[in-house]
Amino acid sequence: MYEQASQLREVGAAVALSANGTRLLRRLGLGSELAECSVVPTELIHRHWRDGHRITAHAVGTRYEELFGAPYYGVHRADLQSLLVAACGHERVHLGRRLTDVNASADGVELTFSDGHVTRADVVVGADGVHSTVRGWVTGEDTAAYSATSGFRGLVPAEQLTLLPDPGAIQFWMGPGGHLLHYPIGNGETINFLAVVDGPRTWPANGWMVPTTHEEIGEAFTGWHPAVVQLVSATSLHQRWALFGQSPSNRWSRGRITLLGDAVHAMLPHHGQGANQTIEDAVTLADCLASSEEDTAALWRYETLRRARTRQVQRSSWGTSDALHLPDGPAAARHDRDLADLPNTLHWIHAHDAEALSPTPRHG
Ligand SMILES: Cc1cc2nc3c(=O)[nH]c(=O)nc-3n(C[C@H](O)[C@H](O)[C@H](O)COP(=O)(O)OP(=O)(O)OC[C@H]3O[C@@H](n4cnc5c(N)ncnc54)[C@H](O)[C@@H]3O)c2cc1C
Repeated sequence: MYEQASQLREVGAAVALSANGTRLLRRLGLGSELAECSVVPTELIHRHWRDGHRITAHAVGTRYEELFGAPYYGVHRADLQSLLVAACGHERVHLGRRLTDVNASADGVELTFSDGHVTRADVVVGADGVHSTVRGWVTGEDTAAYSATSGFRGLVPAEQLTLLPDPGAIQFWMGPGGHLLHYPIGNGETINFLAVVDGPRTWPANGWMVPTTHEEIGEAFTGWHPAVVQLVSATSLHQRWALFGQSPSNRWSRGRITLLGDAVHAMLPHHGQGANQTIEDAVTLADCLASSEEDTAALWRYETLRRARTRQVQRSSWGTSDALHLPDGPAAARHDRDLADLPNTLHWIHAHDAEALSPTPRHG
């Protein structure tokens, strides 16, 4: 693995892992370590932006695992990264290596890095995120699209949040032009949040984020419930993140080069699925490469197994963005009623077993 960053670290952000991701991590033998650094939320609650009333509440805890066959976790990204790197082997992860050039031939691929290092590989997997370099070689275009929505993130000690009801739950507060999502991580002593607002209409800079101020974050949630204002105002991260999506890609592979994760299906984070879909991709790809097929046939099979599934999740995440930002009125009331059936509505995402059709599935 070649990573451009010189150090492995992810500041101030967590990730929610759902059953479709955790069942695969368990099969890889990472279940108990993952459980140790994760928190299972008590409930999934949707609330009104201003008066804070519970619109719907669904039990998570053990009920979720009964329904979907594996747990739901909130985990700090740094913890997830450390356990994956330890499982993979530190010696296989080469830091400070930014890929700049790819030269493919019939029997292999030559990779060149910004420090002049050159290496050869039988197969190259471009898992280099929404601003992927490898995607250029595969599809010949860059299709990441700014969604005209942006977010503020933070990790806040739960004890500071004196106004927050149900800090152990995963909660959405939904209102006109924005929403707040939060859930506990660590031993429940920290609350991770993502607060999303409509705009700016265009993204002023290349890359993921621009600096923001304490005042700008507070202003975005003026008039919201005091618990929301208290939470977003307590962040020490003064950054505004662009939310990018991508049009479904028809081409994932070219010869011995393929794509995986955000590089090929970046999606809005509203189903909490970007990382989970990336885990599904990785396990499916590993199963295909482990089969007795030729490498290029294995890549083709991987792409065929993953394309429709990721496309469906991508599309659904775009739709959810608007539904979370409705003003009070008939459309919001309709959406509130639909939320009552959420465990059934999202069953196709969470109950999915990516290895069900794999040529060499892992079991146990
Ligand atoms: C605000 C927010 C909240 C989210 N919450 C969730 C959630 O709760 N649950 C969930 O499942 N998903 C969530 N996601 C989505 C999730 O973070 C991504 O889908 C996931 O990180 C994608 O993984 P990836 O490995 O494809 O890409 P990335 O995580 O972006 O990793 C790509 C890596 O490639 C490296 N790289 C890039 N270019 C090069 C190069 N040229 N040479 C070498 N290295 C390079 C980068 O440094 C980076 O380390 C969220 C996303 C956002 C923005």
